[in-house]
Amino acid sequence: MDFGYSDKVEGFRTRVRHFMDDHIVPRIAQWNEEVHRGSFPVSFMEDLKALAKSEGLWNLFLPSLRADEPGTALSNLEYAPLAEIMGRVPWAPEVFNCNAPDTGNMELLHLFATPSQREQWLLPLLEGEIRSAFAMTEPDVASSDATNITTSIERSGGDYVINGRKWFITNAAHPNCRIFIVMGKTDPQAESHRQQSMVLVPRDTPGLEVLRNIDIVNHHSPEGHCEVVFRNVRVPLANLLGEEGSGFALAQARLGPGRIHHCMRSIGAAELAVELMIERAQERKTFGRFLHQHGIVAEWIARSRIEIDQARLLVLKTAWMIDKYGAKAARKEISMIKALIPNLHTTVCDRAMQTFGAMGISPDTPLADHWTWGRALRFIDGPDEVHLQTIARIELKASQATRGATAAYLTPPDRSR
Ligand SMILES: Cc1cc2nc3c(=O)[nH]c(=O)nc-3n(C[C@H](O)[C@H](O)[C@H](O)COP(=O)(O)OP(=O)(O)OC[C@H]3O[C@@H](n4cnc5c(N)ncnc54)[C@H](O)[C@@H]3O)c2cc1C
Repeated sequence: MDFGYSDKVEGFRTRVRHFMDDHIVPRIAQWNEEVHRGSFPVSFMEDLKALAKSEGLWNLFLPSLRADEPGTALSNLEYAPLAEIMGRVPWAPEVFNCNAPDTGNMELLHLFATPSQREQWLLPLLEGEIRSAFAMTEPDVASSDATNITTSIERSGGDYVINGRKWFITNAAHPNCRIFIVMGKTDPQAESHRQQSMVLVPRDTPGLEVLRNIDIVNHHSPEGHCEVVFRNVRVPLANLLGEEGSGFALAQARLGPGRIHHCMRSIGAAELAVELMIERAQERKTFGRFLHQHGIVAEWIARSRIEIDQARLLVLKTAWMIDKYGAKAARKEISMIKALIPNLHTTVCDRAMQTFGAMGISPDTPLADHWTWGRALRFIDGPDEVHLQTIARIELKASQATRGATAAYLTPPDRSR
């Protein structure tokens, strides 16, 4: 394993960083101002997307991108450091068409869409012309266990009829959101992992209603994390994604690389938090010393550096494993970074907020927003506990081959005496 950035990656890092410095960071205040007065998408978004596309900084997340599709195909390992740079500004990934949940949805459609689904939904998504949502989580059941999902998808003549309620559906309030990938049950009598299917539901289908955009720790996301109801929503059988009963497997396929994208962006957010913390600690004095001269603040800086660098290496290893052996083989590593990094994200932001004093939890720094997103990531794509359980299960299974081998290291007293 060599995780040094290649010349190609260094070239992309420079270009993405320049793009951020020249076109995105200078517009942070304008983005905030427009969104706060209810204007979304912001006025400059389409211009920035066109610019990023023209500069070849587009769809960088999809290694299997075809030559006739827009964008630049990079491996996960090549993409990781670029996602890190994008993660410094929460809305930056959309400029490069690299934002969740569209990335995961594009991956899914890339793998499983029929030619007509591809034409109708994947190509406009790859072009950045439309946005999409992924609707799995439900208010009435514990959705970290996807087998609990109750939304029904029933055949009726040439159609599927969908009934159910979903919530925290990201992008559902985005005015350009045109398509929902909906997970539900087509056969509640089948074996528990074969009951689910996914269907494509256009946003304007009668019976699909977006009820509310749920604030996250009182933070309002204009693209939305919405409660959505499906009442007798009817779509043709041709809108099935993959096969009937394959919904669970499709959900697993979707989340592999998607999870590492979130982690890569979190590293960028944490990196920005440390930079802000270091600046602030050198500017302000208490009790006759700069903040960094107080041992505890110096320790926060040092610990943050250690933890971020550790986490980055684990993300790079995971990306490398997905590239080399596939997401299934990297399942443990994916769960490891997913359990580790949202916690790191919030811990480092929390230290930086503390260093800033009260300003740290105001909208005058990006820290409170970044903290909130890190906290949300402890649920998104599965809560920490589920990932910890996965890691433990894999470890225990692997240990069976050598069960008992550690006995030689134990030196209990002889109790026969
Ligand atoms: C900002 C945001 C955006 C989101 N976007 C989407 C989206 O676009 N589409 C979508 O479908 N969903 C989305 N979600 C929902 C998210 O995926 C779910 O919240 C998550 O899967 C957990 O499901 P739940 O909320 O039903 O928690 P539950 O399943 O009710 O779990 C509650 C708690 O139980 C504990 N727990 C669960 N399993 C175990 C275990 N095995 N061992 C120990 N403890 C356990 C955990 O502490 C967990 O937090 C989003 C969530 C947020 C916050």
